[in-house]
Amino acid sequence: MDLNTSIQYLKGVGPKRAHILEKLGIKTLEELLYYFPRAYEDRSRFSPLGDLQDGMLATIRVQVIKNHVRRTYKGMSMLDVLVTDHKKLFNVTYFRQDYLAKTLGPGVDVIFSGRVERYKRLQMTNPAYEILTGDEEDLLHTGRIVPIYSLTEQMNQRRLRLMIKTVLDLCADKIEENIPRGLLDKYGLMDKISAMRTIHFPEKESAIDSARKRLVFEEFLLLQIGIVSARKNQKKVEKGIVHKTEQLFKGFQKSLPFALTSAQKRVIKEIETDMKSAKPMNRLLQGDVGSGKTIVAVAACLISVDGAYQTALMVPSEILAEQHYVNLQDLLVPMGLRVGLLVGSMRKKDRDEECERIRSQEVDIVIGTHALLQEDVVFKKLGLIIIDEQHKFGVSQRMVFRQKGAMVPDTLVMTATPIPRTLALTVYGDLDISVIDELPPGRKQILTYWVGEKKREAMYGFIKKNITQGRQVYIIYPLVEESEKIDLKAVTQVFNRMQGEVFREFRLGLIHGRLSREEKENVMRSFKKHEYDVLLSTTIIEVGIDIPNATVMVIEHADRFGLAQLHQLRGRVGRGVDQSYCILVSDARSEGAKERLEAMAKTSDGFQLAEKDLVIRGPGEFFGTRQHGMPDLRIGDIVEDIRVLEQARQEAVCILKHDPDLNHQEHQGLKREMEMKFKTRLELFKS
Ligand code: ADP
Ligand code: MG
Repeated sequence: MDLNTSIQYLKGVGPKRAHILEKLGIKTLEELLYYFPRAYEDRSRFSPLGDLQDGMLATIRVQVIKNHVRRTYKGMSMLDVLVTDHKKLFNVTYFRQDYLAKTLGPGVDVIFSGRVERYKRLQMTNPAYEILTGDEEDLLHTGRIVPIYSLTEQMNQRRLRLMIKTVLDLCADKIEENIPRGLLDKYGLMDKISAMRTIHFPEKESAIDSARKRLVFEEFLLLQIGIVSARKNQKKVEKGIVHKTEQLFKGFQKSLPFALTSAQKRVIKEIETDMKSAKPMNRLLQGDVGSGKTIVAVAACLISVDGAYQTALMVPSEILAEQHYVNLQDLLVPMGLRVGLLVGSMRKKDRDEECERIRSQEVDIVIGTHALLQEDVVFKKLGLIIIDEQHKFGVSQRMVFRQKGAMVPDTLVMTATPIPRTLALTVYGDLDISVIDELPPGRKQILTYWVGEKKREAMYGFIKKNITQGRQVYIIYPLVEESEKIDLKAVTQVFNRMQGEVFREFRLGLIHGRLSREEKENVMRSFKKHEYDVLLSTTIIEVGIDIPNATVMVIEHADRFGLAQLHQLRGRVGRGVDQSYCILVSDARSEGAKERLEAMAKTSDGFQLAEKDLVIRGPGEFFGTRQHGMPDLRIGDIVEDIRVLEQARQEAVCILKHDPDLNHQEHQGLKREMEMKFKTRLELFKS
């Protein structure tokens, strides 16, 4: 028997239980050992029966005096057990478990743990129990700190605990250390077998943390070795396009209406280096809302066109595609570039024509939505893929795209939802990362206020004052997709009331997802040309929209939005030189809402907010686990254990630098694990 032995061969398991365990992701003995408790219950302190009170969780050490099985009036079996601690008497009751009558017979010493309740008299109902046989070292279910596992149907805590204990005893000598001695010493980590024993059956509370830390480190180290070496291998195999920088790129800076920030210059340099190399670029550009990512994308685009390659720019919404289309035309057409647009709502004829132009390379840069991913969209010479607001897309979509050219095109993905670097390197393991950590000069902090209904009139006054000064205003209404029709009606009503009453003397525009493409385009154009003072909108303008004269962002029912979304919406203002404002309207009092709205009012730093959001929502929801290929972790938490994640990353890089194939003696443990755990997933160490 070794750790890879199928669980069904463990004593008392068999095919049927093996099948149940499989639902918990447990197929081998090793996987059983790595099935860690989700919680612990301290059942190590015994309460005298005289101290028991209604409602308390207690553990008692007693002797059975007698028991008695009867039926309730509903026909359920009921086992009454009378017990004593030799000072007082107490009653324990089990429903539907009359088979325990034998086990809990007169004279038996036993420990019970459970909640004390008053039902005519004080008693415990269906408590956990453990018979005392004299060898107290072997206590599993009570009388100690007891592990609590996540279960599935037909599996209970007792059985699982017993199985884990059996494997721990049986395989103790098979559990080999896999972290190099030097690292154990450096970080003061527990050895593996102790950590395994402690995490399941801790002797004392204080040891749990040390065991956990060791196992988290191990998990992260293996994960990082996987990521770092997969990345190395990927770079080795794929052949990319060697771009050159010619006139277009060289003339680029001169044609700009502003000077680039040094952060923009730095990331453009990084992109240029990538694009000129023979390895395909695979880069993530992180930069807060308004930090000027678009112009960086343009620079990359020019490098691609310089060598007569095409560029595809994919964005998450049609409005944003339109905006980029208009802006890039202004910028690029004078330079002789041909810009195209491809979105889902185009007429078939227009779409077919555009596809033909793409296929015959009559356009240099195509801006589009998901529509670009369709199979019949074929590029003649695709040299660069840019994905804007990538947090709205998934990894798989990026992959589809990369197969659209004969050669592997360079890829640049951009996001305004920045996350700490180590995390980014973990979640986007296959990407290099650039960060714009600086806003264009002269930007003033957006002043953000959270107001309740009582302040509504004052708020309208404030908005009017801004309009009178020549500024423009967004008012956002949440729109819940399931009830789009109802909400649409609501938004339209609000619009009529506002135009008719509150903002009678001003020009109001309305935009929402149900408008046709032309209608949307017209509204956005008009707003941009300042033909409207106020734009009433659903969240379709959430990302990307850039109209510098708009300086007030009002978000109604702000509590209905997540932090990332609020920050994105706020990013629609503060894009020019004038002081901008964001007003969050909400009377919500729930903890979650308060936390978000207060965070918004306090900071406008996207990195800080993203971290906060990550903590509030947890990594699973934040990243959309499956979408982003986030690894399944058994014990580590990439947010709470970020320090350990960083250490593990450093060590992984260091190990692979000196020993890329893990051939050294002290790395054999790691190598074995890597081969076992990741062989299929990451195809490591392919020979
Ligand atoms: P985001 O990073 O949110 O996509 P954009 O690329 O839309 O930001 O840029 C926001 C605004 O800042 C745009 O109006 C853009 O023209 C302007 N901008 C970008 N870079 C600079 C700069 N270096 N100096 C001044 N304005 C800039
Ligand atoms: Mg943008």
